Amino acid sequence: MYRSDPDGGPDAKKMLRLTNTLTGEQEPFVPQDKQTVRMYTCGPTVYDFVHIGNLRTYVFEDILRRHLASKWTIKHVMNITDIDDKIIKRSIETGKDIKSYSAPYSAAFFEDCEKLKIQKPEIITPATEHIPEMIDLINRLLESGYAYREGDSIYYRISRFPNYGRLSKLDRRELKIGARIDADEYEKEEPRDFVLWKAPKDPREPRWEAPFGEGRPGWHLECSAMAMKHLGETLDIHCGGVDNIFPHHENEIAQSEAATGRPFVRFWIHGEHLLVEGEKMAKSKGNFFTLRDLLEKGYEPLEIRYLLVSVRYRKQLNFTFDGLREARAALDRIKEFLFRLTTAKVKAGSNPKVASALSRAREEFEAALDDDLNTSAALAAVFVLIGECNIVLSAGELQEDNRAEILKWFKVIDQRLAIIPPMEQLVQSDQEVEALIARRNEARRNRDFATSDRIRQELLDRGVLIEDTREGTRWRRK
Ligand code: AMP
Ligand code: ZN
Repeated sequence: MYRSDPDGGPDAKKMLRLTNTLTGEQEPFVPQDKQTVRMYTCGPTVYDFVHIGNLRTYVFEDILRRHLASKWTIKHVMNITDIDDKIIKRSIETGKDIKSYSAPYSAAFFEDCEKLKIQKPEIITPATEHIPEMIDLINRLLESGYAYREGDSIYYRISRFPNYGRLSKLDRRELKIGARIDADEYEKEEPRDFVLWKAPKDPREPRWEAPFGEGRPGWHLECSAMAMKHLGETLDIHCGGVDNIFPHHENEIAQSEAATGRPFVRFWIHGEHLLVEGEKMAKSKGNFFTLRDLLEKGYEPLEIRYLLVSVRYRKQLNFTFDGLREARAALDRIKEFLFRLTTAKVKAGSNPKVASALSRAREEFEAALDDDLNTSAALAAVFVLIGECNIVLSAGELQEDNRAEILKWFKVIDQRLAIIPPMEQLVQSDQEVEALIARRNEARRNRDFATSDRIRQELLDRGVLIEDTREGTRWRRK
C-alpha cells in the first residue's frame, strides 16, 4: 500500500470530486473505510506493444492514483490480460506457447510505464495466475442460475440480471446491436449473452481443467475474479478507457453483483480517448504511435507525458506533433524558471508578495485536482506563479525563503503530476555553466562562501564538476 506525503492542507480530504460514470454526476469521493482507497484498473492485453492512446489511459490513472495517495493510503490492483483470443492466435502462428509469446510485451509495457513515470500498482495480476478464482466464480454463477452451459462453453444469462445496462445507459435495442459488435462465434441462448468459459476449438489452444469441462476464461470474467480476490466484494474505484464501459465493465458488474449480491464498484471512472485526426487511436485503424515510435523521432518521454497530462482526462485529446512541440516549449519554460530561480542572487528573508502568490497557486493547484482531476487548470496555476515570480526575479526582489518554499512546492507538483524536469537537465548549455561559475567566483570574491558553496553543489547535482586552478576555474561534465 502506498501513501505519499500529504500536502493538501487540512480540508483536502473533504473536497475531492470525481465524475462517476454510474450516475453521470460529479460526486464527493471518500474511501469506504475512510482510510484506504481500493482501486482496480484494467491493464493491457499483451499481444503487442501498447500505443500512446492506451498510455493516455494509464497516465490518467496514474494522476488519479497520485492524487488519491496524497490524501489516503492506496491499494491499487491492475491485471495483465495474458490469455486472450489475439494472444492465442498469434502464439499459434509463431509456434510459441502463450507465456513465451506474451512475456516480452508485458515487459515492454512496464518499460513504457517506467519511462512515462507511471507508478506501479501495489498488485499486478496476470490472468493466467488466477484461473482457480475464475473457476470458482463461474461455479457460483452456475449454481445460482446466472450462468448456463451451451455446447461445451459457459455463458452469462443477462435476462437474469435486471440492472444490466445501468452503467452504459444502453436500452434493450442498443444492447442487441452491442451484442453483435461483441461478435463471438460461440452459440448462446440470447445474442447479447456473453461467454464466461470458452471450450477449445483448436487442439493447439491452451486450456485449463474445470469441473464444467476444460477451456479458458472469457476476458470479462478475468477482471471480476481478480478485482474481488484482491480488493474485496465492493471496490472504491474501477477505471479504464471509455471504450471499456460497454461491454467489458457492464459485464464485470453483472458477473460480480450476481455472485455477491452487493454493489461491485462505488465509483466508475473512465478516461476519454486519444484521437488522431478526429478518430480514436487504435491498432485496428493503423493510426497509432507507440512510445518507441515517438522516442525514435527524438521526443523525450517527459514531453509525451506532459502532453498527456495537459488535458483533463474527461476530454478527448487530439494527438499532433504540434502538440508535442508545445509540450516541449512548456517544459522549457519550467526549466528556464527553475534555472533562474536556483541561480539568482537573493537576499535572506521572505518577500510577502511572493509568499502570498505561492500560497494562492498552491490552493488553486489543489482545488483544480480536487475538481475531478482538472490537470489543465492545475498546470495553469503553476504557470501563473512562474509568470509572477519571473517579474519579481527580474526586479531582484525574490528572497531566500521564497526560493526555498517554491522549490519545495515544485517537489509536490512533481509528486502529483511527475512533469518537472530533473535538476540535471536545467543546465544545458556551456554558456549556462559559465554563467553559474562566474556567479560563484563573484560570490567568492565577496567572501560569500555560503552562496559559492551552494552554486558548486548545484552544478554537481547537475552533473558538472568544477576545479579551481591558478589559471581560473575549470569544469567538465561527469
Ligand atoms: P486494451 O489493451 O485494448 O484493452 O486497452 C488498454 C486500455 O487502453 C483500456 O483501458 C482502453 O480503454 C484504453 N485505450 C484504448 N485505446 C485508447 C485511446 N485511443 N485513447 C485512450 N485510451 C485508449
Ligand atoms: Zn478489465
